[in-house]
Amino acid sequence: MAEETPAPDSLRQVFARLIRATGPISVAHFMAESNARYYGRRDPLGLAGDFITAPEVSQMFGEMIGLWLADIWLRAGRPAGLAYVEAGPGRGTLAQDALRAAARQGLVPDVHFIETSPALRAAQQERFPGAIWHNDFATLPDDRPLMIVGNEFLDALPVRQMVRMAQGWRERMVGWDGQAQRLLPVAGDRPMDAAVPAPWRDAAEGTIIESCPAAAAVTAEVASRLAAQGGVALWIDYGHAQPQQGSTLQAVRAHRKVDPFADPGEADLTALVDFAALGPVVERAGARVDGIITQGEFLRSLGIEARAAALASRASEQAPALGRALARLIAPDEMGNLFKVMAFSAAHWPVGAAF
Ligand code: SAH
Repeated sequence: MAEETPAPDSLRQVFARLIRATGPISVAHFMAESNARYYGRRDPLGLAGDFITAPEVSQMFGEMIGLWLADIWLRAGRPAGLAYVEAGPGRGTLAQDALRAAARQGLVPDVHFIETSPALRAAQQERFPGAIWHNDFATLPDDRPLMIVGNEFLDALPVRQMVRMAQGWRERMVGWDGQAQRLLPVAGDRPMDAAVPAPWRDAAEGTIIESCPAAAAVTAEVASRLAAQGGVALWIDYGHAQPQQGSTLQAVRAHRKVDPFADPGEADLTALVDFAALGPVVERAGARVDGIITQGEFLRSLGIEARAAALASRASEQAPALGRALARLIAPDEMGNLFKVMAFSAAHWPVGAAF
């Protein structure tokens, strides 16, 4: 078969070269580089893009979060000089809706965005010319309480996978099939049994387990900031509240699921967030876990149905679209159950509504 010649800077080509020269790379390495390439060059959100997120479904989503934050701030005694921090703010839509609703309650914080994508930073700048951008959490201010929000941020962080082979556990890697000219998952050479939690040691051959060290690391960092500075954090993502097995790595392009290994950097790679694993991380860092609930429960207990009715009564021609958006956000068979909301905070701060 003639060697195919894709663009020399396609990530597929970069990986193929690297793997031919030095051997398979880890799934985590593959996912980190793929998403850096993917987000760095485009705005993937919206109908014309690859996927739609809750803030892009309806303004009601951000408004509920803004009111949730304002309520905590009021009950904390209206501390001054607070920072709103959003991790992976996309187009800035959530921040815009949340901060508009919060401002009506008197909460007008400084705005800090953690964003690595130049393309999305540019979109955020149009809406928030006065914001301050960061590459990670390390450079956030350390002299004031923080209100930290991340929607569909953790699911983009790289996961590490282990696969049970006949001879024991191995890391799941990405190799290059020269015949078929494609990237594919393979088992690594090195025994990884010592890195596998005890309950999984004797799992059946073919079992895959997944962890997200990057999600644990950022959650620990956020929790220790909250413990030291005061404040609250809200992670919203699709994921499970109990540990599970199996690969949850998936790729979405133009609103369809595609092979995650086919065209790295050209599709959004995500993995389900293991919220159960994050609770102990928060506690070890000295902060308090306020709870992990479904997005449906969270939004309903904050009054999203009443908000939808109020918006519909003001503009009746919008009522059907509002009804569809509401269902998309809270119905159990849409985003309502699959998406979870985890709140954690400084122990001396009030527990947020709904938890
Ligand atoms: N929160 C937005 C966008 C979700 S998409 C919404 O709900 O619409 C994921 C976001 O996280 C994008 O803004 C992406 O650029 C950003 N992101 C992905 N990986 C990141 C990383 N390692 N560090 C910082 N931001 C990251």
